[in-house]
Amino acid sequence: MSLVTRDPQAIWLHDVVSRAGFSGVDDFAREFELKPYRLQQMYRAATKELLADIGDVTTLPKELRSTLAQRVITFSSIEPVVLQRSSDKQTTKGLFRLRDGKEVEAVLMEHFGDRTTVCISSQAGCAFACAFCSTGQAGFTRNLTPTEIFDQARFMARELAERGKRITNIVFMGMGEPFHNYDAVMAAVALLNDAQGFGLGHRHITISTVGLVDKIDRFCEEGIQVNLAISLHAPNDAVRSSFMPVNRKFSVAELMAACERYVAKTNRKIFFEYVMLDGVNDSDACARDLAALMRGHIYHVNLIPYNSTPDAPFAGTPDARIWAFAKILDNAGVPSTVRHNMGRDIAAACGQLRAQTQPKAHMAGSSA
Ligand code: SAH
Repeated sequence: MSLVTRDPQAIWLHDVVSRAGFSGVDDFAREFELKPYRLQQMYRAATKELLADIGDVTTLPKELRSTLAQRVITFSSIEPVVLQRSSDKQTTKGLFRLRDGKEVEAVLMEHFGDRTTVCISSQAGCAFACAFCSTGQAGFTRNLTPTEIFDQARFMARELAERGKRITNIVFMGMGEPFHNYDAVMAAVALLNDAQGFGLGHRHITISTVGLVDKIDRFCEEGIQVNLAISLHAPNDAVRSSFMPVNRKFSVAELMAACERYVAKTNRKIFFEYVMLDGVNDSDACARDLAALMRGHIYHVNLIPYNSTPDAPFAGTPDARIWAFAKILDNAGVPSTVRHNMGRDIAAACGQLRAQTQPKAHMAGSSA
């Protein structure tokens, strides 16, 4: 399969049969004499009907089902290790083991009403080393495949289905830098979006990037309605470079120029994330500089209260200061929202994902 294919069924089948040791979908279909409609039945059973595994696909002949199961054809590329639910029951964090033993986390947030958001990981670890982020401090392990990304959403969708609910939003804000695993992330987006399969609209998906300028330019060309969020966190190079090494590669000016090209091309709003670090990036001067960067564009600022991470030399900005900062933006005509953090008690909030198996943790065990 070419890496650039965006045919969701081909992407899914390719990953599933490669895991089982087949060299490709054609080989696999030939070996079991599977007609194209059989492949389609498998794909739909996993991505649309959300069936647990191949053995449950009753549209396939019984014998075929067990033969395929014996040949280790499995629907999921990830194994849940621990599921933790926050004390308010609104946040569920899943720790998943990949087939090579690496681990990643995904977070399900159930808001009031029927709105649900699933935050998924695109990489095991992260290469960008932002000083305030737990994942970044732990370093990079490897890229996830399209199905390892997609299966986090599939797992959470199955959880929600048990409660009669569905996923309404997906954000690529878990572990990793989505644009550092660009092709696999776009393939996962194709899987999430497929009307014949999972069926989540592009507008309900958000990709958050640390600010890789070349990839923002590439993303402009996709012609899809997926939302873009930029982890800006500082309005100038001195402050941004002090805790985000990526800024030495792409300066604030280069990043903002890429954002302007994105809006010129797509006419879509951009969301800027700004984590509030006490005494670091939360001064009135920073607020005014940020307002100057934002003014006159269709930009929206998300102010994020800092979530504590082990060993980090930061403290969160006090609430009153966050509101004063927001007021300066507001006075300058820049729209902003203060993000409501969920799941801090289970280390499921932004920047707290590290995928460390707790010694006493076990499947279905709840911390709360
Ligand atoms: N690599 C991507 C996506 C992962 S992080 C990116 O950089 O955007 C998702 C968001 O959580 C980012 O805006 C990130 O900066 C923020 N974040 C990281 N650590 C945090 C922390 N300790 N407290 C609050 N937000 C944090």
